[in-house]
Amino acid sequence: MTCIFCEIARGEKPAKIFYKDDATIVFADINPKAPIHLLVCPREHHERIYKLPADLVLRLTKTIGIIAEKLQLEDNFRLQLNNGARAGQIIDHLHFHFISRGSDEHLEYLTEEQL
Ligand code: AMP
Ligand code: ZN
Repeated sequence: MTCIFCEIARGEKPAKIFYKDDATIVFADINPKAPIHLLVCPREHHERIYKLPADLVLRLTKTIGIIAEKLQLEDNFRLQLNNGARAGQIIDHLHFHFISRGSDEHLEYLTEEQL
């Protein structure tokens, strides 16, 4: 099964990557619904939040904190997680939508050299 977000996580498909570490990756949604619309994903393929290993749940929340601080939007973002096709989940690779109508002045994507 091919998964576009696994391919992005492996660097096989292009994306505007804002942050990544050994467990998580954050990149721009191709169809943004707000000035800042990022997708926060585990690098491993998982479909459901309630089936995630507990350490990965922690890593995702930690990443959300890191990116909120980088963007200086700690008090100005929303998270959305669509769980299941009937709730609007199109991509089966678990992801949080990180959405803010705040300033994008600190939104700088990683360069080729930083990846
Ligand atoms: P969901 O409906 O929660 O599964 O959200 C999937 C999101 O992924 C949508 O907001 C799409 O715009 C976004 N998306 C789909 N393909 C890509 C891609 N190749 N790169 C970045 N975002 C994508
Ligand atoms: Zn995947």
